[in-house]
Amino acid sequence: MRVHNLPEMHERLELPDTFQFSCRKELSCFGSCCRNRVLTLTPYDVLRLKNNLRMHSDDFLTRHTEYSLDPATGFPLISIKLGSAPEKLCPFLISEGCSVYEDRPTVCRLFPLARVSGFEQDSKSHDEFFYALSTPGCLGRMEERMLTVGQWLSEQGMDPYRAANDSMLHLLFHPGRSRDRALNEKQLQKILVSLYNLDVFREFVLKTNFMDAYSIDTQTQSRIENDDQELLRLGFSFLRTDLFT
Ligand code: SF4
Ligand code: SF4
Repeated sequence: MRVHNLPEMHERLELPDTFQFSCRKELSCFGSCCRNRVLTLTPYDVLRLKNNLRMHSDDFLTRHTEYSLDPATGFPLISIKLGSAPEKLCPFLISEGCSVYEDRPTVCRLFPLARVSGFEQDSKSHDEFFYALSTPGCLGRMEERMLTVGQWLSEQGMDPYRAANDSMLHLLFHPGRSRDRALNEKQLQKILVSLYNLDVFREFVLKTNFMDAYSIDTQTQSRIENDDQELLRLGFSFLRTDLFT
């Protein structure tokens, strides 16, 4: 069982598999991949971006993102709000390249690959694979450099992203979830606040009886006051307990 499957005509790539790619500023296509494409954000992407921009999560979501429902999962789908047509530029693209490069989101780190992650049917074993996107106009795909998928992930600093993004799988494949029933408004709001709007979630956690109600230990309590990653872990753990009860 997976949320997304390998699209037809695409080859499944594993970590040791190789592909041909090199991206350089000198290529005439430079920046063309930062426009007119869907730039989906995971909760960890939002955390990194709003901190890079030193923005409150609520302001970041309002100013820079769009909301829809993922037809494959029924979960919220947050993506970067692009500029107006016909260019549809990513708002973080500047003449030198990406202005948030250190904290660029998962889809940008993986490009020209995509990642599929899920659990095997009727089992808890994790399956992860990759495939090469169709990237018309990307001259980097014609460069001579061959590299493995694993090498690419390492160069792109993907380890913390893979780990944090996979936390979502425990909600997507939650045993309490009925796959034929859409999430209701209350469930959608809980997901949005606990995973994406972390500064609002922090206020809620600190200013209500949340800590006592969910028996949060004192060490965790003090960490979440300043540590967004700890807060996001709490958000996932809270939803695992609460979302489908
Ligand atoms: S080579 Fe591909 S990834 Fe690099 S700038 Fe050009 S289009 Fe973007
Ligand atoms: S976040 Fe950076 S790398 Fe990603 S599309 Fe925007 S400018 Fe390009």
